[in-house]
Amino acid sequence: MATLTISPEEEKRVKALGFLSNKGTDNFSGRIITINGKISAQQMQCISEAANLYGNGVVTLTTRLTIEVQGIPFDKIEDFRTYLSKFGLVTGGTGSKVRPVVACKGTTCQYGLLDAFAISEEIHERFYVGYNTVKLPHKFKIAVGGCPNNCVKPDLNDIGIIGQMTPVFEEDCCNGCKKCSVETACPVGAAKVVDGILEIDEEACNNCGRCIGKCRFDAIEEGVPGFKIYIGGRWGKRIAIGKALNKVFTSKEEALDVIEKAILLFREQGKTGERFSTTIERLGFENAESQLLANDLLERKQEILDAKLHLVGGATC
Ligand code: SF4
Ligand code: SF4
Ligand code: SF4
Repeated sequence: MATLTISPEEEKRVKALGFLSNKGTDNFSGRIITINGKISAQQMQCISEAANLYGNGVVTLTTRLTIEVQGIPFDKIEDFRTYLSKFGLVTGGTGSKVRPVVACKGTTCQYGLLDAFAISEEIHERFYVGYNTVKLPHKFKIAVGGCPNNCVKPDLNDIGIIGQMTPVFEEDCCNGCKKCSVETACPVGAAKVVDGILEIDEEACNNCGRCIGKCRFDAIEEGVPGFKIYIGGRWGKRIAIGKALNKVFTSKEEALDVIEKAILLFREQGKTGERFSTTIERLGFENAESQLLANDLLERKQEILDAKLHLVGGATC
């Protein structure tokens, strides 16, 4: 068996840079941030070259849309990072802080209700980059889903945003047809003709917008775009399904502010070592929700950031 020569302090230092020890060796996997799972052909080529030059030629994909190059010797880590920087690529994505954002392909997907690539890039800049030095009780994962099909499971992240299109129903146009094309178009059975008129069950409707334009009498011609936000999801040693805030946000700025407030709330009120779902459980969902809808956390942002908290966080990977 190989003799390991890297000290625990050095291992910890490079882990914070996104280099994870390859077990039983002195080599590391370098975790490259893709922002939202979208990289250029040039960047892809650069990663392949770096894998051949500094690693063992193997490239792996992680579940959170980062790319890892395996088998990098400790003394090649800096050269590897410099090589990647030629095409604007950086390593990272570890520790008790905001983690790389995960997004679906909502920008190009036929069901997409938001520009998932653009919004996730904005979230990446504002919270992954902007909060990179901010210590949290544990890791904090953000996901962006283009529609209620939930392909990237936003409700299993600490916070998840889902694109919405709330249908606008013009009751006066509805003739209560025997065979209602809106009812047929609704994938979750939320739209039904009852007593000669269409009814949309607001509890059951997930605002997928699939019924818009389906009525031949123009009863549903428009929708209101928006964002649904889930908080407190997690998937791992323990599982929690996130709960949706009782509001569909129609302003992107407001939705992104909720993410910032959630990070500040977690930093201020989370206990070191606990995930956001536990913080919410402890505080109570209604309490957490009212703080996320109010402005106090943002007004106290600097005070919360300046506090000496979570000097050693709970994340182990
Ligand atoms: S969540 Fe919706 S928009 Fe995103 S990939 Fe799935 S179906 Fe497409
Ligand atoms: S919503 Fe349109 S298709 Fe459905 S019952 Fe009313 S008029 Fe007919
Ligand atoms: S928005 Fe989607 S879930 Fe809601 S009524 Fe229309 S088709 Fe059904």
